[in-house]
Amino acid sequence: MDQRIGHQIGDLAEVLTNLGVFRMHPEDVIALCPSGFRRVPINQGSDHYLSLQGFAPGQIAYAHTHPDSEEWIVVLRGGGRALLAENPVPLAPGVIIGRAAAHPHGFVSDDGGPLHMISLQVPRPSERTTTWDQPGETTDPADCAVGGTCRRCSRCGGHSANVRARIFVCENCGFEL
Ligand SMILES: [Zn+2]
Ligand SMILES: [Zn+2]
Repeated sequence: MDQRIGHQIGDLAEVLTNLGVFRMHPEDVIALCPSGFRRVPINQGSDHYLSLQGFAPGQIAYAHTHPDSEEWIVVLRGGGRALLAENPVPLAPGVIIGRAAAHPHGFVSDDGGPLHMISLQVPRPSERTTTWDQPGETTDPADCAVGGTCRRCSRCGGHSANVRARIFVCENCGFEL
């Protein structure tokens, strides 16, 4: 066991502490839900945020801007569009897209099937400086595909599970609604 690398609780990287090597299909760890897109952190620190991102068919991540963070995405499966300012970029399996800091961006998946991507953000975007550029809409609370109830985050479009009473917390941006 390598003690030099710390793993944040909840990151997929925790499995490496015990397993050493880990092989997976994205669909095994991203439980897609119709209410909002999902993000599974793989490994993160102040200087990076590596994650899996999964969209059910026809799902959106509302446009936003990180002034302090670049991003690279690799499309693993499915299709859709990266909404980069005026110029949408088509997403297809195997495509790699880099985005400079301060470029407004969002994503939308095709209606035909799920979209899976790997995202590397360098450094980890700060919550404080992120601006939410596109007015989003929430959904009524509904039974979640993975249990409990959930709704869509009106700020980022992310999956937001019910945590207590009538409070839902977005697993992507931390917004409470
Ligand atoms: Zn759900
Ligand atoms: Zn959110």
